[in-house]
Amino acid sequence: MQTSGPSAARQPLPEVNMKFKRATLERAEKFISDIYFTDVNLRGQLYPDTQPVEEIHHYGSSGRYLSPAQATGGRGEVKVGDSFGPTWATHWFRVTAEVPERFAGQQVRLRWNTGCEAMVYSTENEPLQGLTELGGQERTDFILSRSAVAGQRYVFHIEMACNPIMGAGHAGMINPPDPNRTFTLAQCELAVYDPDCAALYYDLELLVAMASKMDDKWPRSYQALYTANEIVNACRVGDRDSYKRCHEIARQFFNQHNGDSQLTIASMANCHIDCAWLWTYEETVRKCARSFASTLRLMEDYPELNFACSQAQQYEWVKVHYPGLYDRMKTAVADGRFISVGGSWVEMDANMPGSEALARQFLVGQRFFKQEFGQYCQVFWLPDTFGYSSQLPQLMTSAGMKYFLTQKISWNLINKFPHHSFKWQGLDGTQVITHFPPANTYGCEVTIDEVLNTVTNLEDKGRVSESLMLYGYGDGGGGPTEGMLERMQRLKDCDGLPRIRPSTPMDFFSKLESTSASSLCTWVGEMYLELHNATYTTQAEIKKANRVGEFLLRDAETVSAFASLLKLADYPHTELLRIWKLFLLNQFHDILPGTSIEAAHDLAKDYYKDVHKSAKQMFVTGLDALLTSSTGQPSTEAAAGAGTDSSSVLTAALVNPFSWQREEVCSVPAGVQVPDGCSVQRNAGDDGSVLALVQVPSLGVACGKTIFSASQASTAVVEAVEESVGAYRLSNKHLHVTIDRHGQLTSLIVNKTGREALPEGQTGNRLVMFDDIPLFWDAWDVMPYHLETRRVLDNATELRVTETGPLRVSVQYKVQISERSHLVQTISLCSNEEFVRFHTRVDWHENRQFLKVEFPVDVSSTEATYETQFGHTRRPTHSNTSWDVAKFELCGHKWCDYSEYGFGMAVMTDCKYGYCAKDKLIRISLLRSPKAPDGNSDMGCHEFSYAVFPHQGSFQDAGVIRQSYNFNHPLSIMARASSSPQAAVPASSSVSWLTIDNPAIVLEAVKMAEEQVEGRPGSLILRLYESFGGRATGNIRFTFPGALNVQSVVKCNILEEAIADSNGATPSLTSSGSQTAQLCVKPFEVVTLRLEF
Ligand SMILES: [Zn+2]
Repeated sequence: MQTSGPSAARQPLPEVNMKFKRATLERAEKFISDIYFTDVNLRGQLYPDTQPVEEIHHYGSSGRYLSPAQATGGRGEVKVGDSFGPTWATHWFRVTAEVPERFAGQQVRLRWNTGCEAMVYSTENEPLQGLTELGGQERTDFILSRSAVAGQRYVFHIEMACNPIMGAGHAGMINPPDPNRTFTLAQCELAVYDPDCAALYYDLELLVAMASKMDDKWPRSYQALYTANEIVNACRVGDRDSYKRCHEIARQFFNQHNGDSQLTIASMANCHIDCAWLWTYEETVRKCARSFASTLRLMEDYPELNFACSQAQQYEWVKVHYPGLYDRMKTAVADGRFISVGGSWVEMDANMPGSEALARQFLVGQRFFKQEFGQYCQVFWLPDTFGYSSQLPQLMTSAGMKYFLTQKISWNLINKFPHHSFKWQGLDGTQVITHFPPANTYGCEVTIDEVLNTVTNLEDKGRVSESLMLYGYGDGGGGPTEGMLERMQRLKDCDGLPRIRPSTPMDFFSKLESTSASSLCTWVGEMYLELHNATYTTQAEIKKANRVGEFLLRDAETVSAFASLLKLADYPHTELLRIWKLFLLNQFHDILPGTSIEAAHDLAKDYYKDVHKSAKQMFVTGLDALLTSSTGQPSTEAAAGAGTDSSSVLTAALVNPFSWQREEVCSVPAGVQVPDGCSVQRNAGDDGSVLALVQVPSLGVACGKTIFSASQASTAVVEAVEESVGAYRLSNKHLHVTIDRHGQLTSLIVNKTGREALPEGQTGNRLVMFDDIPLFWDAWDVMPYHLETRRVLDNATELRVTETGPLRVSVQYKVQISERSHLVQTISLCSNEEFVRFHTRVDWHENRQFLKVEFPVDVSSTEATYETQFGHTRRPTHSNTSWDVAKFELCGHKWCDYSEYGFGMAVMTDCKYGYCAKDKLIRISLLRSPKAPDGNSDMGCHEFSYAVFPHQGSFQDAGVIRQSYNFNHPLSIMARASSSPQAAVPASSSVSWLTIDNPAIVLEAVKMAEEQVEGRPGSLILRLYESFGGRATGNIRFTFPGALNVQSVVKCNILEEAIADSNGATPSLTSSGSQTAQLCVKPFEVVTLRLEF
């Protein structure tokens, strides 16, 4: 082969030369290789000339988000080859360059490569584009001019972030980060870029890929091969005219079109940016800026580039930290090219968020999109979450979205999901049109493999004529690149491959609905991901902070709403929104699942502390207002039992955010007077507190001695009797429980029926350990084979009685788990409760061990029930099919139940999410010990509780649902100096603001409406749901204080907009002036009511 020289026509051989595929193909590959023969091949001519920049001035290394102007402490002039670090550090450079004479009229680029992330800024501090290695495919060019002017000077700022785009894992991507990495400035130069050479390069790249990837049973791959060969023969490297001639040969090949029946790929760009993962939230702010700025720049050259972008949080980060870039994004949104999708605050985990939190993802997210861009998102977008709750169809529809996109179920370990386009039917029957891009990724690079996979993988061939391809680097950000767009242009309609049609999410889905909806199959219920099931357990502290936070937010909103309606305090809208945003961010799909690096989890824990503290403060402020007369002084806060003067008599206040009356054994702080005649029990410890049975009405507050009225009426007692040496029987009016010296239950009898819940010869509360070594995804996966390594911890010591009644009895024991870890558990039974509590403290220092607890149950049923958002899901208790086998570790919220007709057993937890009820055994997953990506995951002390609740009748009738709320959020007495007789909650009284006469209907949230009506006392939002799984009619009775008369009840969607009721059963006040509304709900229906006063 000749390099550039006088352009002479090639002289073909007089006879046809027979070609062999391997050699022909490899020859063409080498012609575009960036490794081999670059001195004589086409690839080597992409940048035919280079020139060093004039100066690289290092002027600062400091924290994130520093504007270039503020950077200090630089090294001055640096050069290519210098190194910078350590991991996560930031360095700023000013690069000065001048276009040399010989570059005039050519396309000139700045090339910068440090092997980590970087962004180029203008001298006005505007972010222009990322300069980032994208996992081997580099975005290291920044176009300075398409027709350079000799002598023109350029000055730029470059921010170097010392982290590769996929984090800094030590010797492996998901390993804990190496904190001491340095990065070398390998390249910083001006270069001429040859667009004609590039065009031919992209032609050949595709021809070679088609020749090698397409089925060689058919002629098309050979046609590609021969075209490539012809080009290599005809091309004279360095001769731009020959590039153009060869490009014409390629163009003729790519313009051979398909027949009408060919499938179409609707393509759109996206960029999956994990809000935190192998990096922290702080780095993600910059990842967003790099990715979005790069995409906007690319849009200037490629009009077909449409970009789908999710996660309101990421828009807000850019808005706050990069206002200029945000303005440019807004313009692109208005042009319809930057397309908001998702409608949620972040791409959240879709298994564990509680009911209201899941609704808030949509409320907070959609309101952001509406406020910023004038419209709601129309497509729910959650491509990377580890399983999909069966309530998502109802919630997303209620939030204005009827289309859903994901692809994660393609990661299933055992079973292949049978559809790519289908109707997904949720728990309540709502259906949404759903699509999984058949390439099984959201990070396509527009390769021939991906294009072919989009056709061959498609499960719905014949039913649909279009499927989606999402291109753009993701996870660590990146987005679309020049190469992806060049390839797409050539593959628009090339015979043998599907057509590619640039599209948008709405365009794709509305076409799918209009052309294929009637032929789509239906998938009913949850989309369980058969992988990453350990994410229900990993990072126990995060899970606990999440569960606790959900209840604290509920308390804060409920009390603040009533204080505000009564004009006793302003509703803390701004502060509530601030902490809800932090809370929702922490439900991101690598934080709540516990699959991020340690630094990311630490920051998330700080956010949780902030949320908890603020929510508690709002609750106290609201309660203070309710206990104070409008003219009186606020009551002084006195922390329960702590630091108070024991001589002063404190009054007690109890708040119940739930829609049912409660009676619980509760700790009464020292200084709070318990009326005479009440049964009390001295508390363990010497803080002067006692136990008493307390009472509070539904959605209300009890104050003073009224909280003890249940205690005065009750004679219920509980006792502990030593049955044999070291074994005890605990009993109350509901249960008889026998505990052996290992802390295991040997008998669990429901008194009402005399029925034993445990199978004969088996024990309950067996603590068990498993080896827990997955195949790769350490924090994510627990594999089915872990069950084969089960070991029972039956070496308990020190079993002793610690509480003797009459209100609560307890025994405590200790188990040495290993030389490094131990567990102390207190088993308690209260006089009035139908379940046994297990309060557990673990000092945990294991390596790839999994701690669970087991309760065998003597019932027969093919299904067990697990709580999910606004309802429950039934799953098999057997392993008949491969789909059943895959369900060995399952997500549940506060409870899980295993029942046959008439009898069953539930377990409840206060912060756990992993369960499995199979083969007459319920297991709760307690603690794991993975080592990647957080090398210290779950090490240290843990405190949690679970309970076992054997019951007569169904779990619905037995009250498991209500008790699980109570168990998670026990009554807690607030000690107050006094409350005023004129207060909203007067001294020594109890008030109830709402009652519901049907236990199937559960109140989930009380809040002030986001939008208030001018001149009204305020609009109150109630969120309720049908919890039993049946149709229910109920009366909601409002007993609001003072002049707060409900004037109207309006049914809304979760965006708080009035909706027409498809049931035809619009809730309304039963008569004019009445304070009762009748509600008819479908199974698992979520109802949002807006009350006007
Ligand atoms: Zn992700």
